[in-house]
Amino acid sequence: MSVILGLDVGGTKLAAGLVREDGSLIAHEMRPTIAHGSAQALWEDVADLIDTVLASSNEDYSAVGVGCGGPMLWPQGRVSPVNIPAWRDFPLKEHVRERFAETRPIAIHNDAVALALAEHRWGAGRGTDNMLGMVVSTGVGGGFILNGRRIDGHSGNAGHVGHIVAEHDGPECNCGGRGCVERIARGPSIVAYAVELGWTGEQTGRALAAGARMGDEAAIRAFARAGRAVGVAIASMASALDLELVVIGGGIAQSGDVFFAPVRAAFDEHAGMTFVRECRIVPAQLGYLAGISGAAAVVMDERSSS
Ligand SMILES: [Zn+2]
Repeated sequence: MSVILGLDVGGTKLAAGLVREDGSLIAHEMRPTIAHGSAQALWEDVADLIDTVLASSNEDYSAVGVGCGGPMLWPQGRVSPVNIPAWRDFPLKEHVRERFAETRPIAIHNDAVALALAEHRWGAGRGTDNMLGMVVSTGVGGGFILNGRRIDGHSGNAGHVGHIVAEHDGPECNCGGRGCVERIARGPSIVAYAVELGWTGEQTGRALAAGARMGDEAAIRAFARAGRAVGVAIASMASALDLELVVIGGGIAQSGDVFFAPVRAAFDEHAGMTFVRECRIVPAQLGYLAGISGAAAVVMDERSSS
C-alpha cells in the first residue's frame, strides 16, 4: 500500500502526516499557524513541521497532497487564504514541490474540499454521491461532491460556502463582502458576539461550548446565531443542488448539540420542498486529523479521475 505525505494549512493550525491509502495515519505532527508574520517565516514553520514528520518515520512516500485555506490560483497552488494574511499569492505548491516532492506527483486543493473528499472516501459521506462537506472553524468553508465527482468550478474555487450571504446588510467580512456566513459563524465571531452579550469566560470556542452546555445564556445565544446562519445557508444550498447529505467538521462543529441543534432548527424552518427536507445534516467522523487525511484524499481523487 503506497504512502502519501499530507499537509494541511489552516488559519489556526498546521498539520502534516504520512497517510496510507486506507486513510490511516503512520505519523503526524501539528503546530499553531502564525498567520500574521512574514510569508517566509510561515513557510519555514511548514517546512520544519514536515521535516519533523519525515524524521519520525522510516516510510518513504509516493506522492504529496496539500490542503490549504482559500482562495487560491488553482491548480497552480498560489494561495491567498482569507484567514492567513501572511500569504497573498504565495506559491505554496512550488515551495512544497521543490523541497519535498521533487519528482513525485503533487496535488493541492482548498482545505475544505480536501476534508469533503476525506469524509466522502472514509467518513460520514461514504455511500452518497451528492454531498457538501463543510468546515466551521476559524473560517467557514466547504467542498461539493455532486454526481460522485469533486466540483472545482470555473477557477477551482467552488465550495466557498462561508461567503454565502446570510445577512444582506450585515457586517463586513474579511473577504471584502458583507454579511457572509463566515463573518457570523466563524469561531472568533461567535466568541466576540458572546462577549458583547456578557460572556466573561475564556475566549475560545471550546470554553464557550462548555458554557453553553452549562446553560450560560450568552454562550447559548452566540451559538444559536451562528447555527442559524449555517442552517439557513444549508437550506439554500440543498435547494439549489439537491444534496443528500451535509457533513460538518471543524472546531466549532465539534461543540456538538449546542451548535447542531440551531443549525437543524434553522434548516427545518427554511427547507420547504420534500427533496430539500430529506437532506441530512451530520457531524464529520474523521476528527481533528481529518485535514491530513484530506490532503491525501486530494491525491487519490486525482489518481482515480485521471
Ligand atoms: Zn465573506
